[in-house]
Amino acid sequence: MASLIPCPFCGPRPTEEFAPRGDVAGPRPAVDAPFDDWHDYVYLRDNARGRNREHWHHQGGCRRWLIVERDTVTHVVHGVTDARAAALARRDAEEDDSVMFEPGDSVPGGPDTEGGAAP
Ligand SMILES: [Zn+2]
Repeated sequence: MASLIPCPFCGPRPTEEFAPRGDVAGPRPAVDAPFDDWHDYVYLRDNARGRNREHWHHQGGCRRWLIVERDTVTHVVHGVTDARAAALARRDAEEDDSVMFEPGDSVPGGPDTEGGAAP
């Protein structure tokens, strides 16, 4: 009997409809991060035994990217979430810590700053 993945959009579907794409990497390095940080982010994985979080693509169904939490030894699936929703939640949490500007605000160094406008 084929194992099932509980897709949040399609319901329980056979594993053959999905394509595993590797474990969920840590946070993306800054754009200007050193080359070694980007190398590690793109290529290095822990490949740990036991419970892992992995990106899976539901290519035979809704074509959404999912985060599947499963045990690499027993293949038991512990949970499935929408990868996009997880990324948006992470971005919103990061934005809460940053300075936000509203339309009409004076931006430091912007064109409406005294002496900051280009001729
Ligand atoms: Zn699906």
